[in-house]
Amino acid sequence: MVYQSFLIKYAEIGTKGKNRFLFEDALVSRICHALRAVDGKFNVTREHGRIYVDALEDYDFEDTVEALKKVFGIAWICPMVQTEEKDFERLTKEILAYLDQVYPDKHMTFKVDSRRADKSYPRTSEEINRDLGEAVLEAFPEMKVDVHHPDMVLRVEIRAMVNIYSQMIPGPGGMPVGTNGKALLLLSGGIDSPVAGYMVSKRGVKLAAVYFHAPPYTSERAKQKVVDLARLVSQYSGPIDLHVINFTEIQLYIYEQCPHEELTIIMRRYMMRIAERIAGETGCLALVTGESIGQVASQTVQSLAATNDVCSMPVFRPVIAFDKQEIIDISEKIGTYETSILPYEDCCTIFVAKHPVTKPNLKAIRRSEENLAEKIDEMVETAIAGREVVEIR
Ligand code: ATP
Ligand code: MG
Repeated sequence: MVYQSFLIKYAEIGTKGKNRFLFEDALVSRICHALRAVDGKFNVTREHGRIYVDALEDYDFEDTVEALKKVFGIAWICPMVQTEEKDFERLTKEILAYLDQVYPDKHMTFKVDSRRADKSYPRTSEEINRDLGEAVLEAFPEMKVDVHHPDMVLRVEIRAMVNIYSQMIPGPGGMPVGTNGKALLLLSGGIDSPVAGYMVSKRGVKLAAVYFHAPPYTSERAKQKVVDLARLVSQYSGPIDLHVINFTEIQLYIYEQCPHEELTIIMRRYMMRIAERIAGETGCLALVTGESIGQVASQTVQSLAATNDVCSMPVFRPVIAFDKQEIIDISEKIGTYETSILPYEDCCTIFVAKHPVTKPNLKAIRRSEENLAEKIDEMVETAIAGREVVEIR
């Protein structure tokens, strides 16, 4: 393998000053965490606004790149060759050898983009661009210069060492997880909520998750599917504690006591109430759902307002204005789609009314919930106290 190092470029730093170090530290720690799953030993270091990953032994290049592509905060992954050689003649030889190895087919246009951070270096960057460009043209006559739209940009950075790279693989963007607090994802087995979790996590937010399980109406396989989805999301977000709430009694009680066309809304209001309690107990400052305007009866603007009515925490709904296909596109990209479409029932489909309200009246909903007064508080306490926590690492 020609590359023993990667230069990691990041784009966006949320806030400046001291927070820059927090951001960089978080990114280094996320990179180390991601590379633990890869064959090989790596050294991850920080130097003047950039991060280097150095392989200390043989490693799997493809796996390493795949792992880095899942680390939020990375804008570009640049496989790189580093050399201590600064003598221009010998450095040129090394660079030509690099090009020869990386580009067996040399029918391409290129330009040289050099930076001289080490100002004591005897040539300016313009001189390096010119002289190196000439050396490349002489060594590989098939290559042509195009300074405007080159197929390949040969980047040479003169620092303590010399960095040579010409490939830039896009990272996922976003901010490192851990730099923006923690939120609780309401994770069902569907397509939307894993995407919602991914999107919020991409902004640097650590995740916990809650799943409302209704055995025997929902099977163990439905639960396993949610665990699998949480694991897929955690490849990006890092560890997730998945809180599994047994929701059966509450659902049956609502079913007995409330008008059936209001079941879904009332059920969703209890999900939000319970989620908010768990969020409070686990250091989460917001809830995250996969709701999208108009997708189903419980997601009309009126229904969303009725659901939101019970929350005092912010509720993040990152896919709120996305079309279904746009959500599917993301779920395919992040690898959750195939699992999401497995056919196991989720608890919302069991208790759905034939004609659910699409424009719930908030006063009517609150009145219906009064029918639950006798037992619901105790049921909620029991459900929260008896929850199972699946640690996804
Ligand atoms: P998804 O594809 O995410 O399942 P959906 O289109 O099926 O969404 P709903 O069933 O109305 O939509 O649920 C809306 C949101 O409520 C979900 O995106 C999810 O955040 C949350 N939710 C629904 N059911 C559950 C559940 N059983 N456990 C946890 N959260 C749930
Ligand atoms: Mg669902």
